[in-house]
Amino acid sequence: MPIANYDQYQDMLNKAYKGGYAFPAINVTSTSTANAALKAFADMKSDGIIQVSTGGGKFASGQGVANMALGAISLAQHVHLMAEHYNVMIALHTDHCHPEHVDKFLGPLLEESQRRVSKGELPLFNSHMFDGSVLPFAENMKTSLELHKKCQKLGIILEIETGIVGGEEDGVNNEDAPADKLYTSAEEMVEVAKILRPIGPFMYAATFGNVHGVYKPGNVKLRPEILKNGQEAVKKELGAENCHWLVFHGGSGSELSEIHETLGYGVIKMNIDTDTQYTYTRPIVDHLFSHYEKVLKIEGEVGSKSHYDPRAYMKLGENGMTQRIVQAIVDLKSEGRTIFTS
Ligand SMILES: [Zn+2]
Repeated sequence: MPIANYDQYQDMLNKAYKGGYAFPAINVTSTSTANAALKAFADMKSDGIIQVSTGGGKFASGQGVANMALGAISLAQHVHLMAEHYNVMIALHTDHCHPEHVDKFLGPLLEESQRRVSKGELPLFNSHMFDGSVLPFAENMKTSLELHKKCQKLGIILEIETGIVGGEEDGVNNEDAPADKLYTSAEEMVEVAKILRPIGPFMYAATFGNVHGVYKPGNVKLRPEILKNGQEAVKKELGAENCHWLVFHGGSGSELSEIHETLGYGVIKMNIDTDTQYTYTRPIVDHLFSHYEKVLKIEGEVGSKSHYDPRAYMKLGENGMTQRIVQAIVDLKSEGRTIFTS
């Protein structure tokens, strides 16, 4: 099969919510990294989420085109084709879209899904993130609501964010974000449910001190109880059926005990980018350093084609990335969790 359809994706997320596990959401920027993610999910019989950021889309389109939407479309089409050959369910997602990128990223992607849906096909992506966390809350909710309605009509689930994920990713630097914005309030989590729930299901990146990137121990103060308190407030005011599907951003470098704690509070998706970037690069470094005299043409020698062919080291990079995703699947307890039936 299989890219999930709308009902299947909801089924994946509902089962994760009820079962106390989450899916790794892996950022990809090339066919090679997408293939590494697909293989990891299949090896572990875990459904999974593959996602593209604005910067990832731009990179994938090539430096001569540099179009974030076109690159994302290209990667998504690749995943649609290749997922058919694996026996797990895959959902395609786009990562942080800040307000200034809505017209040139989400706009064309929704148009492409509209074109496909009107022909009776699946939308190109299963979910999109709109990150309006830089806006005042009311403005963030206004745009989130508009996009949520558009997405629902196409069978797409929206992910939104309030509060700010700290750190740096994809060229967006939140390292100086005010400390209180790093923690979403319980009141905000209730408000978000009131505004967006009536339209349909959505995912929510509520922030609890999480940061993009990996920092030395002691520099990140995660407070998972923020999520617990928020969900309890929603349950009390609106009922358990309105509790959130939460998304853990900045999963790289997090303590296992903290990851496990969040699973109990409704985290169903954890984004991983920094760690998979490193684990792709690490074996390549090893290859290039160990075969220095083969990957280079030194002093009139000709090197070794089998060592400098990019496939030789990209395969190693893919394997390194696959191994890190396998670990994420174990950490998030999604091993063996697939709704795919042949
Ligand atoms: Zn993020």
